[in-house]
Amino acid sequence: MTVLKAITFDLDDTLWDNHGVMLRTEEGHYRWLLDALRAWRTARQEPALALDPVNGGQDYLQRRLQLAKAKDVPERRGDFTWLRLRALEAQLEAQGLTRSGALLWAAAAMNEFHRLRIQVTPHPEATGLLTALAERYQLAAITNGNIHLARQPLAAHFPVAIAAGELLAPKPDPTPFLTALARLNVAPECAMHVGDSWEEDILPAQQLGMHAVWIAAAGDEVLPPRVHRIAHIKELPSVLKLLENEV
Ligand SMILES: [Mg+2]
Repeated sequence: MTVLKAITFDLDDTLWDNHGVMLRTEEGHYRWLLDALRAWRTARQEPALALDPVNGGQDYLQRRLQLAKAKDVPERRGDFTWLRLRALEAQLEAQGLTRSGALLWAAAAMNEFHRLRIQVTPHPEATGLLTALAERYQLAAITNGNIHLARQPLAAHFPVAIAAGELLAPKPDPTPFLTALARLNVAPECAMHVGDSWEEDILPAQQLGMHAVWIAAAGDEVLPPRVHRIAHIKELPSVLKLLENEV
């Protein structure tokens, strides 16, 4: 008999809809950087940089993609904050900023990135659900995203929170799952992972022997053992009830 002791959650597109937030964050932090730099250079009577949100934004993206493919640091490809910092530093140095100026402005832009990135709106059911679950289960968050884990709005519900990119082992690598389970001191078969990505959440969790709940639109595929599908996080209690009746 298996008794479920812990539930691990993906964050983006599981506990909130991430699409609008990423668009606003992507555009917003870069625009902030260009505006702040322009004001700074004007005050110092220096010419404006030849960067605008469109061409500069494209160049910033290309530099990130290039860095993610770089052979000398393959383990950094999933660490999105690292990629963004290095890309911005390189872009600003290429525009003639000193090395220290480039480092400073890139860091400031990423600070703005994180300020915007945490402005997610959790599904209205999330807080009540996590509060109720915490009475019975240990909870953890496992994300590939670079949201600031201590500052995100549901942080208080997750005593264990894993940023897989910072472990240099983004999901589907089993490392972030095993790290969470080790910190919770729970065996995989006594844990459940909840997430929206088949490849990054459900398959690796299932292959480790965890239960898995896939947030996805209804379909007619046959799901492997220990995998359940729901359309929305608010249906999770019904899956848990089903499991409790099985054991
Ligand atoms: Mg997700």
